[in-house]
Amino acid sequence: MSPRVAPATRDRLRIAIQKSGRLAEPARALLTACGLSWRESRDKLFCYGESLPIDLLLVRDDDIPGLIADGVCDFGVVGRNELDEQAGERARIGLPQAFREFRALGFGQCRLMLAVPDSWDWQGPQQLQGQRIATSYPAILAQWLQDQAIDASVVELSGSVEIAPRLGTADAICDLVSSGATLAANQLKPVETLLDSEAVLAGPSREFEDERAGLAAMLLRRIDGVLKLKDSKLLMFRAHRDMVAELSRLLPDADPLVQLPASGDGPLSLQTMCHGAITWQRLEELERAGAQGLMVLKVERSLA
Ligand code: ATP
Ligand code: ZN
Repeated sequence: MSPRVAPATRDRLRIAIQKSGRLAEPARALLTACGLSWRESRDKLFCYGESLPIDLLLVRDDDIPGLIADGVCDFGVVGRNELDEQAGERARIGLPQAFREFRALGFGQCRLMLAVPDSWDWQGPQQLQGQRIATSYPAILAQWLQDQAIDASVVELSGSVEIAPRLGTADAICDLVSSGATLAANQLKPVETLLDSEAVLAGPSREFEDERAGLAAMLLRRIDGVLKLKDSKLLMFRAHRDMVAELSRLLPDADPLVQLPASGDGPLSLQTMCHGAITWQRLEELERAGAQGLMVLKVERSLA
């Protein structure tokens, strides 16, 4: 193996995201919500960061872990399934772990599942003994089989895994599932979950030693701010002092009520950040419990 060249010192951060596909739009939306904006190149593969020295590289999702490992990119938005698979493959061939998951991003949810023909009477993993399992995730599957002490053969396929049992090239499959409709259409049923996946922010195992350290810390802080507020709303209302305890009880998913300065001994002005869904039904319930002038406000950003 040729000696590793240390990544050159850089003063800009480079993030790889999927060029097109399920994670492309939500990844851009998240980074835009973090205050990033870009000028796109003509080939649309590289976007130069305008608001901050943070550039985007638009690639295939499969390439993202390797780009981080090679120091070409600093971060990437990729499915945990892809990241764990490539980490498993690196371990298998004796390469050091060069990337890791920094944050789970709350979109692109799916599960890596084992599925068997509908006709099987599923008794448990031992049934896979001696069978052929088709997958695009050989490293994760091999590890799982080893953990379960099952000797089965892994048939690696790059796509259309779900038709392998019908074609006779495998007995069962291990593939990504979200709704389960594709499995059902191929007379397969999911029986075991190997991995709960979602999009993650992946980054290098090594710390940054140049300007990128500060940029990375800022990016992570902004991502945390966006993720924390994703489903949060600011709730404002007035209420008499003796109603406050009951109103707090009705808001178990909210921060403690904050009392805003008010004069006289009329109703208190209160506010709280609520992290669960605020339905009309909930508002009516709060009103019946003594909340007046209820207002629900969208929260755009916060450094709290
Ligand atoms: P690329 O051209 O970038 O290689 P792809 O075809 O490999 O694209 P997509 O189908 O866009 O990738 O899926 C990207 C990621 O979306 C998956 O790796 C996975 O993490 C997530 N995902 C969420 N739901 C599903 C699903 N039902 N099937 C496949 N992937 C899903
Ligand atoms: Zn891919």
